Amino acid sequence: MAVETAATRTAVDDGAVDLGPAVALSCRECGERVPLGPVFACQTCFGPLEAAYELPGGDAESAARLRARIEAGPRSIWRYAPLLPVPADVASAPNLNPGFTRLHRADRLAAELGVTGELHVKDDSGNPTHSFKDRVVAIAVEAARAFGFTTLSCSSTGNLAGAVGAAAARAGLRSCVFIPHDLEHAKVVMAAVYGGDVVGIEGTYDDVNRFCSELIGDPAGEGWGFTNVNLRPYYAEGSKTLAYEICEQLGWRLPDNIVIPVASGSQLTKIDKGLKELIAAGLVEERPYKIFGAQAAGCSPVSRAFKDGHDVVRPVRPDTVAKSLAIGNPADGPYVLDIARRTGGAVEDVTDAEVVDAVKLLARTEGVFAETAGGVTFGVLAKLVADGRIDPAGTTVAINTGDGLKTLDAVAPTTGPSAIIRPTLDSFREAGLAS
Ligand SMILES: *Cc1c(COP(=O)(O)O)cnc(C)c1O
Ligand SMILES: [Zn+2]
Repeated sequence: MAVETAATRTAVDDGAVDLGPAVALSCRECGERVPLGPVFACQTCFGPLEAAYELPGGDAESAARLRARIEAGPRSIWRYAPLLPVPADVASAPNLNPGFTRLHRADRLAAELGVTGELHVKDDSGNPTHSFKDRVVAIAVEAARAFGFTTLSCSSTGNLAGAVGAAAARAGLRSCVFIPHDLEHAKVVMAAVYGGDVVGIEGTYDDVNRFCSELIGDPAGEGWGFTNVNLRPYYAEGSKTLAYEICEQLGWRLPDNIVIPVASGSQLTKIDKGLKELIAAGLVEERPYKIFGAQAAGCSPVSRAFKDGHDVVRPVRPDTVAKSLAIGNPADGPYVLDIARRTGGAVEDVTDAEVVDAVKLLARTEGVFAETAGGVTFGVLAKLVADGRIDPAGTTVAINTGDGLKTLDAVAPTTGPSAIIRPTLDSFREAGLAS
């Protein structure tokens, strides 16, 4: 299933791959270990492979040393290089230095929602291509370099395509990305502007993803690193940096509740992994936390399964304004269910109208313009606070994963100038806006 060029096979077999503290891949289901390489499914049970590490111990001295090293590091995800599958000198190679985005204390939104504790917005629209995808792509690029891939690719719901195009341009790699043909204009243009190839596919994201899996086994895709397919075990680790940053920005403290959007479920799953690693490394004090997943009603297979008490996620055909989250057959859906249930969280969904309302509410109260995926997250936050499933007295963090400029059409019909006037004081007074 994996791409096996002579170059990649030799690098892996020689043990010459330097991905820092990552020493192997291990199967999430059966625990089987395989050498680091561009593989993503267990040969024994077909379970997903994930990066396995030799990490520093959790004693007080190692924890203090690691914390000091992180705090002295660059203001990007590379400050967490000791916990990621990347070489120690990763920050010195040309890359977009994503991460370390702002964590806003959101008191005005809290007041509006009835949150009495601390509410924070983790605003990942501040990344280089204006979505959280720059985090995961930056890690995948390191794996692509390590395995000798010369073309960077992906199946994308929009943001990933832009992030791959930009990262490949900066790293001097070719890129060829695959998207559903009917994405938002801004996302298509952003994917193409970096000069790589963009292929629109007549079908849903799930069709695009299936096509890419076929391409990986074919000579037509020889030497290609698909960030979210054959490089997925590395790519996925990038989401852990959201967990690390949130805790560091809270003063090395776990929040009580985190609300996270769910497309494939990778981000939510790896944020949980990141929190567990921080506890194990002694960087935060262990205490219970709850993880909440957010979906759009028009693509809510995981929310549906959560509500029905099922362990299996039944695929759906997406129809929602939150196109970044429109994955009808989410690979990590079952893990999202496990994590929400184990931590005492939930998976909930909101309608497109609620998504648009939430985008405007966040903009109006906190000055943060979220893309529709963020509207899903903040809409679900509002719902969960209103029905008491999120304790209003706790410390809650909700993640905005993308920039509102990417999904202008969702809010444009109900958002515009208050008046169009002639450039005269009389005309302004007539508009009824004078103080
Ligand atoms: C990709 C993406 C997500 C999360 O995707 P997962 O597949 O669940 O990791 C969330 N928000 C935006 C804006 C995205 O582009
Ligand atoms: Zn297995």
